[in-house]
Amino acid sequence: MIKIDGSEGEGGGQVLRYAAALSLITGEPFTIANIRGGREKPGMMRQHVTSIEAAAAIGGAEVSGLAVGSSEITFHPGSVTPGEYHFAVGTAGATGLVLQTILVPLMLADSASRVVIEGGTHAMAAPPFEFIAKTLLPITAKMGPKVTAKLKRHGFFPRGGGRIVIEFDPAPLRPIECVERGVLKSRKAEALVAGIASDIASRELSAMQKVLSDWPEDAFSARQLPADEGPGNALLIETEFENVTEIMSGFGKVGLPAEKLGKTAAKRAAGYLSSGAFAGPYLQDQLLLPFALARSGVFSTVKISQHTHTAIALIERFTGTSFRIGPGNGKSHMVEVLR
Ligand code: AMP
Repeated sequence: MIKIDGSEGEGGGQVLRYAAALSLITGEPFTIANIRGGREKPGMMRQHVTSIEAAAAIGGAEVSGLAVGSSEITFHPGSVTPGEYHFAVGTAGATGLVLQTILVPLMLADSASRVVIEGGTHAMAAPPFEFIAKTLLPITAKMGPKVTAKLKRHGFFPRGGGRIVIEFDPAPLRPIECVERGVLKSRKAEALVAGIASDIASRELSAMQKVLSDWPEDAFSARQLPADEGPGNALLIETEFENVTEIMSGFGKVGLPAEKLGKTAAKRAAGYLSSGAFAGPYLQDQLLLPFALARSGVFSTVKISQHTHTAIALIERFTGTSFRIGPGNGKSHMVEVLR
């Protein structure tokens, strides 16, 4: 039984989700206390409960202590059963984070799965749908498992109501090298708006344009979504390179000026572009689990995040696989799996 202190390191929901994924893969039970102990409102929120319910459903796990507000659970995994599943967060809690919990276990299952997840598709502090479909899944596809994601309906905070469908064609994970991003093929900055004042998108676009001043005018556009999918607002800055498509994002919320949101998202994209690295700040921790299970591989990335340090420590405890972090070229860093 692995004992985890959920307040250590990043101290967020990722420790809980990755622990459940690792437990399903290794068969090792765990208990976690102080769940989200590093967050302002500690304990499990609705989306964390749904993530663990999803892990328990696909993996025949027995879980005690699972409830909104709970700060301690014990998880005994069973065996992963691929098939048809439907999970609904019930709030705008992130569909992408429920997926993060079950992604690798279902990728490695012995037959196909189809999973519908309902909740937020463009929610704060979580991977937006486009990041999953265009950034993460094409990389894991190169490692073997083919997973496709379709967006059926957008879901924003606070209403939620989004829906994604994920299809899994499993295969073993093989090691890959993700060091060079290759040449830039396209770039675009998009403001998604659903049921909100139209000047918001134009203010965000001009704020992004000020930071990304060498981008052509036609790289910036607004995408109007059906009003009944909102109210909602998200920014997606997509840079497509030969070997990776990175997506930096920003999520509108009441009280956050459009100019500030645009500037922050664009600065994040500029930072990624100037680093020369393959993986941006969020892809970084999300590559660790598949890379560890492939038992070899290396990727270049931007400054190492606290999420990454925390996930590395957790992965080592469950699998014995460790990573080496070292300097890369220029501003980048290297993350390498040690066998
Ligand atoms: P936590 O904060 O512990 O709940 O973990 C959040 C997870 O969502 C981490 O795996 C992050 O890499 C990921 N994440 C957060 N924001 C973004 C974003 N804007 N794009 C992609 N992934 C994100």
